[in-house]
Amino acid sequence: MTARVLVVDDIQANVKLLEARLSAEYFGVLTACSGAEGLDICSRERVDVVLLDVMMPGMDGFEVCRRLKANPATQHIPVVMVTALDQTSDKVQGLEAGADDFLTKPVDDVALITRVRNLGRLKMLNDEILLRAETGQRLGLAPGEALADPIGSEKGRILLVDDDPRSAARIAGMLAGLHETVVEGDLQTALMTAAEQPFDLLIVSLSLAGADGLRLCSQVRSLDRTRHLGIVMLVEPADEGRLLRGLDLGANDYLMRPIDRHEMLARVRTQIRRKRHSELLRSRLTESVELSIRDALTGLFNRRYMESHLKTLVDEAAATGRPLSILVADIDLFKQINDTHGHASGDAVLKEFAARVRRSTRGADLACRLGGEEFVVVMPDTEVGRACQIGERLRAAIAADPFQLDAGGSVRMTASFGAAAVESADDSPAALFRRADRALYSAKRAGRNRVAVGAA
Ligand code: GH3
Ligand code: MG
Ligand code: MG
Repeated sequence: MTARVLVVDDIQANVKLLEARLSAEYFGVLTACSGAEGLDICSRERVDVVLLDVMMPGMDGFEVCRRLKANPATQHIPVVMVTALDQTSDKVQGLEAGADDFLTKPVDDVALITRVRNLGRLKMLNDEILLRAETGQRLGLAPGEALADPIGSEKGRILLVDDDPRSAARIAGMLAGLHETVVEGDLQTALMTAAEQPFDLLIVSLSLAGADGLRLCSQVRSLDRTRHLGIVMLVEPADEGRLLRGLDLGANDYLMRPIDRHEMLARVRTQIRRKRHSELLRSRLTESVELSIRDALTGLFNRRYMESHLKTLVDEAAATGRPLSILVADIDLFKQINDTHGHASGDAVLKEFAARVRRSTRGADLACRLGGEEFVVVMPDTEVGRACQIGERLRAAIAADPFQLDAGGSVRMTASFGAAAVESADDSPAALFRRADRALYSAKRAGRNRVAVGAA
């Protein structure tokens, strides 16, 4: 993932510092030294996150933020306000102007990278929703309102894990009215509750009395039922080591104690949006669109939809230089299932195969059934090496557990995979498929149950 970040600050030294830190983490960086220049860049170029200095001569950061959020062409770009002082009044004004998060100068490295990473992800999910809506409209399927904000103003459901009653009550109070919060003090109960009820976000304290909040983070990430849940950690300032460990374990973001209400509301909102956007992408756009773009047996996207949408994605990738990979999959020796166990058992295997594909891919990935026992996963913002890793994960998920058959009993199945990526500005979906198919063919020849890469 390579978000493009625009740094807006009137002081050249500040711009250079942020640029260097972001580049070191492989983000793309654009810079502007005034609000007007920042607005101009956002209107012309693709920007995924804006880091906006508050105090600038001429147009200040609040005004720039208001204008970005008032323009339909730029309103989806997340904005982080960079404030000189840790001032609550700045945060209130920032939120009113539509800012998505805050950073305080001097900017802490972990805070910077975490903020940019989270908002960059949100932006990419949002872009994918908009692109799909456009594809739907082009196919004559999606009504105009599909482009509207899918999140609405529905309250978020939050599980707060904190065993200090005073702290828990204070935090629940800050969230009251905007979200529904369930407080839990015990880790084991918390994990069970998270698996049983549909939460949008987990907030977990890392200073529990007799338990380790990091353990919960890791368990939540490894359970099928909870692994898409957003996690925000509550951290003591002296606990940077465990904070880093938590981010490594897959927590999405954190809040430093003492907790600032505005920061918390901004971060909670980002995580809830990310989860809901991701769910929307994984599930469906609108009912009417569904029927004509889904494969009836497996519920994955169908070939017609994939072909139309892939064209859009390949053109985009070629124009912006962002990576795009596809992974084609073909079940090994599938014909034998039909021949030995009957067509209904074959269908059951196809359904379960699709379910495993869906579980192993991200919300922004497009999983399709091409026909028969052939599938493809289209992965925006993904290099071919990463696509191979995902292919390997999928391969393992297919081979690991037997497939239940309709007639009773079960069979072990394997599948072969071919990966390919967009390689140049004049690449086409057809050429991309040819390379992936060639790779798939070589995986079959090499003995099946493996992943191969297609080169130009
Ligand atoms: P390989 O490892 O070389 O891919 O072998 P294979 O047996 O998987 O490949 P082959 O292409 O020979 O067979 C694919 C079979 O898939 C043939 C066809 O009857 C079956 N098939 C295609 N669509 C469906 C379907 O919707 N349901 C069922 N049950 N079977 C299907
Ligand atoms: Mg300034
Ligand atoms: Mg096959």
